Amino acid sequence: MTKTMAEIGSTHGPAVSFTTQRTSSASIATQSRWLPAEGGHASGPHISAVAVEKAYRKGQHKVAVLRGVNINVRRGEFLSIIGQSGSGKSTLLHLLGLLDCPDIGEVLLEGQRMDDLPVRTRDQLRNRVFGFIFQFYHLLPELSLLENVLAPLMIRYSAWEFWKRRREFRDRASEILHLVGLDHRLKHRPSEMSGGEMQRAAIARALVARPEILLADEPTGNLDARTGQEITELLASLNEREQLTILMVTHDDAIAQQAHRIVRLSEGQIEAVAAAA
Ligand code: ADP
Ligand code: MG
Repeated sequence: MTKTMAEIGSTHGPAVSFTTQRTSSASIATQSRWLPAEGGHASGPHISAVAVEKAYRKGQHKVAVLRGVNINVRRGEFLSIIGQSGSGKSTLLHLLGLLDCPDIGEVLLEGQRMDDLPVRTRDQLRNRVFGFIFQFYHLLPELSLLENVLAPLMIRYSAWEFWKRRREFRDRASEILHLVGLDHRLKHRPSEMSGGEMQRAAIARALVARPEILLADEPTGNLDARTGQEITELLASLNEREQLTILMVTHDDAIAQQAHRIVRLSEGQIEAVAAAA
């Protein structure tokens, strides 16, 4: 059995330490890494965008949203992307997560180009590499918390495979729900949970397939300041403990400060902002 932060809190201090603002209330398991052991190549960037351009059509007009975005994110980095509403933050996250393709430029995973792969290969890669969380959680209201977290595995595997491995998958889901501090809520429906709990559930769902990279689009946008801070602390803890690469879009400066590095999307390009603590 793993212990939660709350159980070990006073003797071990906060689980996270790389910024001074984090006096974590996040519930974090203390034992083994549950991500795959093989760490990939430490040297080059984990994920990159090279001269990425993207425009949308609005009637007769073409609106350029990304105008030559260059960014390198290293493995295990926690990066915040800030920028005004409509500056293209979600567009960039979608391109990096292979949900969409750039008009021009390249998206690379460990130096390998991904955006020009066949659709099926990209779909498989997306499912294997990325976890997504959003502002509005997108939990399925008719399912329990545990079922919501298991849903990605139900989709990924055949009914037979899922049934054969159901114990392993249940254990994995329970472990991750423990990690996000929700193991007392397994049978609850989303409507019986608070906003913070729903976002923790969405994080657990994003992690159940063991992604390498978590893409979070305004994950605290619908939460009060304190709960938003707790969710960001949880992300920071997961980043540190699991060496999970995290790209988080936010328009909240205090939230952005929790990351290792902040960049701003402005005029369709990326500019450095500041190194956080
Ligand atoms: P942000 O996330 O920074 O608020 P978005 O990436 O959502 O910005 O959007 C950037 C711009 O692109 C906005 O002007 C938005 O209206 C436009 N846009 C985004 N997605 C689409 C789409 N699928 N079709 C047309 N326009 C879009
Ligand atoms: Mg957006």
